[in-house]
Amino acid sequence: MAAGHRNILVAGAGASGLTVALELARRGFRPRVVDSDAGPVPPEESRALGINARTLTLLAPSRVTDAILQEAQRLEQFRIVSGGKVLAALDTTRVPGPYGALHALSQGHTERLLLGKLSDFEVEPEWQTTVVSVENPIEPRVILRKADGSVESAAFDIVIAADGAHSTVRKAVGIGFPGDALESSFYIADFRYAAPIDPHFVEMQLVNPGIIGRLPVDRETLRYISTLPDFESRIVHPAPVAERVWASDFRIHFRHAETLSKGKVFLVGDAGHIHSPAGARGMNLGIEDACWLAWLISEGREADYARLRTPAMHMVLKQTRQLTSLFTMNNPLAIAIRNIAMPVLFRLPQFSRKLLRGVSGCDTPPPPWIDGAV
Ligand SMILES: Cc1cc2nc3c(=O)[nH]c(=O)nc-3n(C[C@H](O)[C@H](O)[C@H](O)COP(=O)(O)OP(=O)(O)OC[C@H]3O[C@@H](n4cnc5c(N)ncnc54)[C@H](O)[C@@H]3O)c2cc1C
Repeated sequence: MAAGHRNILVAGAGASGLTVALELARRGFRPRVVDSDAGPVPPEESRALGINARTLTLLAPSRVTDAILQEAQRLEQFRIVSGGKVLAALDTTRVPGPYGALHALSQGHTERLLLGKLSDFEVEPEWQTTVVSVENPIEPRVILRKADGSVESAAFDIVIAADGAHSTVRKAVGIGFPGDALESSFYIADFRYAAPIDPHFVEMQLVNPGIIGRLPVDRETLRYISTLPDFESRIVHPAPVAERVWASDFRIHFRHAETLSKGKVFLVGDAGHIHSPAGARGMNLGIEDACWLAWLISEGREADYARLRTPAMHMVLKQTRQLTSLFTMNNPLAIAIRNIAMPVLFRLPQFSRKLLRGVSGCDTPPPPWIDGAV
């Protein structure tokens, strides 16, 4: 069957949905993309900030990487501090490949860059169009509710669930989403400064118990993320604050779908798995799912998708859980041991290499369709 003749629905136009649509479009498919929202994430909501090296490799063929590199901040160092002292530091530029481990760009900007490239292929998401239900995953029929309230029933050859953690598609086809939530919440606040700041490093301050993380959003904006509800009063700002741009809080869940596919329905991104932001894997893993699925569809091998992606999903969930427990521990003895062990561990080349491979996203199988990918 010619590429364009498979009738594909992408439910959700977040980073995962836009990526799968773009990767399909550049191979000659014409997917239909719907999203219940009115548009992409607002630019001021930084959300998923870290773009890893694997994502930049995956988005290079569509040239989204070129656009990201023009706008994003390259992160050069990751450091852990306690009591004003640097306990450990990692040079995040020392990874194989051309990109460095991590760049920072707000999710709203990343989504707009994906949207821009997608429109080059004349594929535009249908905003305010909601998937209400999916009948029969073997021969999917989807009920859509449009902005004007009208309802459409349409059959598709393939339905891609990119509709986020609360995925209607996943629930409609009866795929469970088991897992658990952490007791504590995480708190985020982004500040824009009236004077230049250093946007090139990420810092985790251990406040025993708890952490306050500092991540650059752009050349004048920093994100602080913490396990402490009163963290804002503890921030030592690097320059006068011009504006508190955005704030949010959330509980961290570790969950994954019982299976990433059922019949002709395939789950990508948060629809398939959610975990803590430690290690900046969330959006990146969704983009990776999306690229693999589009490639497999183009090869007529979509039946292999769940088998190929499930190990990566399990590995990332395990890794982010371990990283999160390092930063959320409360026991004073465990904290003391961590603070002594951390500098030693970071000096071990094997440990820092493994950590960097994870942060780069290069600890999952490289994409076989991109020559020389690491
Ligand atoms: C406050 C906040 C902070 C975050 N911080 C980080 C971070 O620092 N690092 C990180 O890696 N990740 C972070 N994340 C998570 C990150 O945003 C997600 O991992 C990423 O957005 C997943 O992309 P996605 O496209 O799979 O899902 P989503 O971004 O959730 O996109 C799903 C899309 O589907 C649409 N949709 C939902 N239901 C329907 C329906 N029934 N019909 C049609 N469309 C539908 C939604 O409108 C949405 O556009 C954060 C998330 C939030 C909310």
